[in-house]
Amino acid sequence: LIELHDVNKHFGPLHVLRDINLTVGRGEVVVVIGPSGSGKSTLCRAINRLETVESGTILLEGEPLPAEGKDLARLRADVGMVFQSFNLFAHKTVLANISLAQVKVRGRKREEADQRSRELLDRVGLADQAAKFPAQLSGGQQQRVAIARALAMDPKALLFDEPTSALDPEMINEVLEVMQQLAREGMTMVVVTHEMGFARSAANRVVFMADGRIVEDRTPEQFFTAPESDRAKDFLSKIL
Ligand code: ATP
Ligand code: MG
Repeated sequence: LIELHDVNKHFGPLHVLRDINLTVGRGEVVVVIGPSGSGKSTLCRAINRLETVESGTILLEGEPLPAEGKDLARLRADVGMVFQSFNLFAHKTVLANISLAQVKVRGRKREEADQRSRELLDRVGLADQAAKFPAQLSGGQQQRVAIARALAMDPKALLFDEPTSALDPEMINEVLEVMQQLAREGMTMVVVTHEMGFARSAANRVVFMADGRIVEDRTPEQFFTAPESDRAKDFLSKIL
């Protein structure tokens, strides 16, 4: 579904993505881990073109990513992204947050969009929160709204960049449970996370990055029980 071939990206002198080759099949859950600054966010952002890359190709369903305009908005609907910081519209209700892009990007009628939004709120356990504003919700609830908003576009894949890192510990599980459920339902997901329990239970593959490179790309069992590289061993010894 998603393919990266020999992708390279610099920020000035900094080589942040080095010869990245990665394939994410339909229904696959790929967890990306690695030290701070290794390029995990940049990788995610490149996949839905929040960052451009200098060389290599990124394909979605075999087609190169669109460069601009309407096609780009459609790409970001097709490949939704959930950020650490929720990124909800503060001055819009929960319902309006989820309905907005359905109308603007998918061309749905308002009532149709609102109905879909309510279904999704129910699915993430927030059926009774539709009329509230984001600031009236907890962090875990806001993140579940952000997931519902991404789902409302009927995405082909979802990217998560440290979706639980900004949350208080007691709210992490409610978000991970929604993600686990999506994984079980066959959603294609690329998930940057430090939640190793999620990686073990939900991931088909773990991709370990260091210094802009993919150092390991293996099953969770293989990765956690017998990491091959010194970088991965060192990283795991610090976080486990
Ligand atoms: P973290 O775990 O801290 O989120 P990361 O693996 O997500 O790290 P990236 O955010 O992808 O790492 O950043 C990779 C490198 O690129 C880092 O050295 C970072 O400082 C640098 N970088 C990221 N975004 C920019 C930017 N817009 N301009 C310049 N440098 C950047
Ligand atoms: Mg990051």
